Amino acid sequence: MSDRDQALPSAVLAPLDARLADLVALYEDLHRHPELAFQETRTAAEAARRLTAYGYDVTTGIGGTGVTGVLRNGPGPVVLLRADMDALPVTENSGVPYASTLPGRMHACGHDVHVTCLLGAADLLAAGRAHWSGTLVVLFQPAEEAGNGARAMLDDGLYGKGLVPTPDVVLAQHVAPFGAGLIAYCPGACMAAADTLEITFHGTGGHGSRPETTVDPILMAAAFVQRVQSVVAREIAAKEQAVVTVGSFHAGDTANVIPDRAVVRLSVRSFDQNVRTAVLAAVDRIARAEAAASGAPREPEIKALDAFPVTVNDTAVLAEVNESFTRLFGEQRVFAYEPATGSEDAGLLASAAEAPLYYWWLGGWDPDEFRTALAAGRLAQDIPSNHSPQFVPVPRPTLETGVQALTAAALNRLDGV
Ligand SMILES: [Zn+2]
Ligand SMILES: [Zn+2]
Repeated sequence: MSDRDQALPSAVLAPLDARLADLVALYEDLHRHPELAFQETRTAAEAARRLTAYGYDVTTGIGGTGVTGVLRNGPGPVVLLRADMDALPVTENSGVPYASTLPGRMHACGHDVHVTCLLGAADLLAAGRAHWSGTLVVLFQPAEEAGNGARAMLDDGLYGKGLVPTPDVVLAQHVAPFGAGLIAYCPGACMAAADTLEITFHGTGGHGSRPETTVDPILMAAAFVQRVQSVVAREIAAKEQAVVTVGSFHAGDTANVIPDRAVVRLSVRSFDQNVRTAVLAAVDRIARAEAAASGAPREPEIKALDAFPVTVNDTAVLAEVNESFTRLFGEQRVFAYEPATGSEDAGLLASAAEAPLYYWWLGGWDPDEFRTALAAGRLAQDIPSNHSPQFVPVPRPTLETGVQALTAAALNRLDGV
């Protein structure tokens, strides 16, 4: 454990001004060339090239396209900094000069900001290694949006085969639609667990005029869709939070044929492991019970398509790192925010190491536009959210704030010398 005798961020951050033009160019280049989940080869190659130049031991191809850099710099804690690399299947409509060159692909969640800031911090921490002691691990993961990039790196032996030393703490950030230059934090559960399920209900098909010869899977699945809404209303305590949404329902092709199956897909969000377990068990129970109630010829098939755990910030690490943030940025630029219903897989990198996590949000919107929208009560209308075809963080001061935050947080957890 660190002796909390921390290096001063100012000494390590001093070269940042001279590096900013290059970081802005890197960000704009990544933004022009977005790559979807598990296809981040160009981004990964650039990360690996730069990390090698900064003096890191680099490993590529972890879990597909994942990249790590390790800098062993004397005794002390192992600190892991993480960025995600993937873009989304969105066609950009932002009008910025560095817009995506590829229709149907866009960095609409700001992962290009994350990659740029982590490379900037990796550079400064390597150049400033005389000021700290310990081991730094920087990690670029694929496929955060698909929910299985961190899992793929772990399954490929990230810690198990010792591709990197097991971290004592995991630090990560995500750019969000509030004023650039600001940092927001949420102690405890900060992002929801998300489970996507596909349920196939089996009936017996037949002529639409003779329903008595069939088992109608549409009626069966429709009963499930109705009843599953009772889970949150009737089985979860009022002080807990959960969302169950059926977002897809496919069955049949024509009016006079009763099909033999119906397929529904649903999304379950929760902020507590016990609530998550209870909701998933209730969904399973209701699906099977509705199938039985209809006299289905076989049990429904219930498949988990993806699963994000709850993202939980360690309150002690958060409080200590926030002291560094407020010293660096001033109290008015660091504020508490409520949990988000979005989801993240960064927490897996921490839980697999039994290490604490601190994951904060980084403002990315033009500060003047944000203030104007806030004053007019028009944030939802005027400021695009992540995944919007207009969500493009401004390069400055987003990038310097992101580099400063990662660097200061790492120095907070490493030993000083
Ligand atoms: Zn996203
Ligand atoms: Zn994201």
